[in-house]
Amino acid sequence: MTLPRIVIERCQYLARCSEEPGAITRPFASEAMRCANELVGDWMREAGMAVRRDNIGNLRGRFEGAGETLLLGSHLDSVRDAGKYDGPLGVAVAIAAVQRLHDAGRRLPFAIEVLAFADEEGLRFGSTYLGSRAVAGTFDLADLDRVDADGVTIRDAIRAFGGDPERIDGDKWSGGRVLGYCEVHIEQGPILESRDLPVGVVTAIAGQERHRITFTGEAAHAGTTPMDQRRDALVAASVFVQAVEGYASSTDGMVATVGQLSVRPGAANVVPGEVTLSLDVRHADDALRLMASRHLLDVAAEIAKHRGIGIKTNQISEDATVSCSRRLVSTFSQAVRDLGHPVVELASGAGHDAVAMSALTEVGMLFVRCKGGISHNPAESVTTDDVAVAIDVLSRLLELLAES
Ligand SMILES: [Zn+2]
Repeated sequence: MTLPRIVIERCQYLARCSEEPGAITRPFASEAMRCANELVGDWMREAGMAVRRDNIGNLRGRFEGAGETLLLGSHLDSVRDAGKYDGPLGVAVAIAAVQRLHDAGRRLPFAIEVLAFADEEGLRFGSTYLGSRAVAGTFDLADLDRVDADGVTIRDAIRAFGGDPERIDGDKWSGGRVLGYCEVHIEQGPILESRDLPVGVVTAIAGQERHRITFTGEAAHAGTTPMDQRRDALVAASVFVQAVEGYASSTDGMVATVGQLSVRPGAANVVPGEVTLSLDVRHADDALRLMASRHLLDVAAEIAKHRGIGIKTNQISEDATVSCSRRLVSTFSQAVRDLGHPVVELASGAGHDAVAMSALTEVGMLFVRCKGGISHNPAESVTTDDVAVAIDVLSRLLELLAES
């Protein structure tokens, strides 16, 4: 079987590691993740890498070489009911590029470490980049007290998974000079498809922030509480959801989303007393993003005040826009050109582990066309031909870095 075909098959095979039968849901430090780590560990070893798992739960495969180290990687966790390629494709393509060197009996003038990150999506704990932050040395120890929906802390989840939460500091990169971090990822957008191109070179990753907002009204009997005497938290929340859409739609390049909503007590015959929702705001211009989030939080406060409802807001995360390094952008571009493809440069609206890794070293990313630009959805799809281009480009990048 050809290497590109193997990569596709591996992504499909990983789909079996899931918490939900018939769907892909692979949260941080879960049994599904343990299953994925076992498979990926085998593939890494097959490609000539020494494999270990760190405390946060990242899998690290090292292909020895002289002196410095080039880091490659992506994530193995997923959103709920995910596609097969968001994350795993980048890991599988990186392993394939190393496999090619291994099969040829070659070593480069630098070592390669493939990082399969434990948490990028933040499905279980609502916090992003736990895995890559640990490697970059920016893991916030206060995060250990975060709890999942079952009240399990990150600390306990790490312990149950076999890591030592008191030694997350030890996960920080300590292997000497790093050449950079490169990540292959599906585009998750429509640009490459619309331009009929297999891959694109990423120039920047748009900044984003997440908030949790709680509207607290008063639960009451749906049959006996007159309409003018209600303090309905869900109605307040729904007005806010519409305001978010309206504001983002009227600002160029802005995207804002309420993707989670929990209604309490959540019964058909009870006026909703409390609603907690998520707010996600992104823009490639950090100043515009900050202005937007300030405005939207003010709007939420006004809606609450107007309706006599309590409000609590809590910022969950903030990541500034990250620029890919000129050196890696131009090397990726050269690799794409060398393989006979036109070069398109694009910004990423989605966050990636490269954001966290930029605290450690310079970063570069290659996007792979995905069908219909669809992602975070079981319909996620890539072609074997495009995967072949991605492996070739990454292999060519390794050659170019080795020559320089
Ligand atoms: Zn991803």
